Amino acid sequence: MPTAIISDVHGNAEALQAVLADIRQRGVKRIISLGDIIGYGPDPLLCVDLIRENCDWSLMGNHDFGVLYEPTNFNPGAESAAFWTREALDAEPDDEARRKRYEFLGKLRVRVVERTPGPGDRLHVLCVHGSPRRPINEYIFPDDVQSAPDKLATVFERVTRTCFVGHTHVPGVFTDEPDFYPPGELTDQTYNFMDTEKAIINVGSVGQPRDLDPRASYVIAYYPGEDALASPSGDKPKLGSMGGVQFVRVAYDIEACAKKIKAIPQLSDWLADRLFEGR
Ligand code: ZN
Repeated sequence: MPTAIISDVHGNAEALQAVLADIRQRGVKRIISLGDIIGYGPDPLLCVDLIRENCDWSLMGNHDFGVLYEPTNFNPGAESAAFWTREALDAEPDDEARRKRYEFLGKLRVRVVERTPGPGDRLHVLCVHGSPRRPINEYIFPDDVQSAPDKLATVFERVTRTCFVGHTHVPGVFTDEPDFYPPGELTDQTYNFMDTEKAIINVGSVGQPRDLDPRASYVIAYYPGEDALASPSGDKPKLGSMGGVQFVRVAYDIEACAKKIKAIPQLSDWLADRLFEGR
């Protein structure tokens, strides 16, 4: 079954709702989340509820961890947002609703091996928020291809075949060459899985993209034999025999989310401004 993989919603309900509508319109029935549901954005309660209701499962990101436990290595803006988010979760007057959200967040895993259809480990799919080495906190940056090839080699040692990550909010594909391909450099924004190379796929961010494209980012993963689904405008990606991953962007009401952020003193205005620029 084609699977939509979302990440880094960061309490941005406008972006999440637009992405869920796009996923539904394409006929994708299964959704998973790589974490950072909350932190930064103005609608943490609604975002937790939407993820809980719509996703098969979610991972724990560093911001989910920061809100639940402690904001480790956060800058002052991120720390203030984490404490505000915790207050917002605590302020829920309905005991049952509050308990359910905390229970859901408390049970998030840091690492899931998604599934291994077919023979051997051809499609061993590892899912983490940050990196296979340090699932919650390590960043894998496009620059690492040039500046830290040893780091990438160590990271790839922990990847059997395919790995999905979020965390940097920059979508694209790392191969074990090592190389990095932004979605715009891929035909039809689609990467086809290959027997001959390992790949770490960053799905980008729903709620706070940082690749200078302000639209919400997510991917649709297809495994061997699954048929490509058409976009709302009718295009279909061309998939190889091993399946592949299609990168998708979705416009949403940035203005509405930014207004809410600016009305909350504990959330820095920069968190609103950056949404318009996608950085
Ligand atoms: Zn994040």
